[in-house]
Amino acid sequence: MQDKIQKARDAIARAEKLLVFTGAGISKESGVPTFREADGLWEKFKAEDFATLDAFKRNPREVWKWYRERRALALKVKPNPAHYAVVRLEEAHEDFLVATQNIDNLHQRAGAKKVLELHGNIMHSYCMKCGHLVDESAGELPGEVPSCPCEDCDGLMRPKVVWFGEQLDPHDLERSFQFASECDCCIVIGTSGLVYPAAQIPFLARRNDATIIDVNPEPSAITPIADYFLAGPAGQIMPRLVEE
Ligand SMILES: [Zn+2]
Repeated sequence: MQDKIQKARDAIARAEKLLVFTGAGISKESGVPTFREADGLWEKFKAEDFATLDAFKRNPREVWKWYRERRALALKVKPNPAHYAVVRLEEAHEDFLVATQNIDNLHQRAGAKKVLELHGNIMHSYCMKCGHLVDESAGELPGEVPSCPCEDCDGLMRPKVVWFGEQLDPHDLERSFQFASECDCCIVIGTSGLVYPAAQIPFLARRNDATIIDVNPEPSAITPIADYFLAGPAGQIMPRLVEE
């Protein structure tokens, strides 16, 4: 393991364009419940009641109540050593990007700046009529059914998360794909690699002959293409990859 860590560190240090691709596993170590795992949220709640546009149109009050609870929980947990290690990688690499599938804002709270949120950000909401974006990451919780703050707009605000049946922002997706296709090192943290289209990202990096480093407690769909599979909690492994 020590040898693999050293080799992975060397690859990271050499990288001119470094991509970090994260999923639920990194947040789970902070205490954020996952959505799709066996003990995840979609086992307890029906996704079609809370995470579809239809559900929102049917009952915006219920959906907002649920998202307020999710948001309150995301505000209560803290970034873990893996999130801080990612920030140190950003500081050491000019050409850098985090592409995350997480919506909990933990990368930004740790201090990361170059973050692409492929599935949205639970701290943000936007007007369904005029698109006005509200950033509430400072901690205030939205009202029961928040309406657009713009004058002369009576649109409903909705959480800025990608719901089932919705497309990812094509601009963000394209940017992450482009970056993956050009990077020379890609660190994959805590993702099963099963949720498409985001899961294409490490495969695009692989196609560019990037070094793929997979940090996961269990082998994932990414592991077969990884140069280094580092088994274990990201909170323990990531700090070892950025040690002085
Ligand atoms: Zn509006």
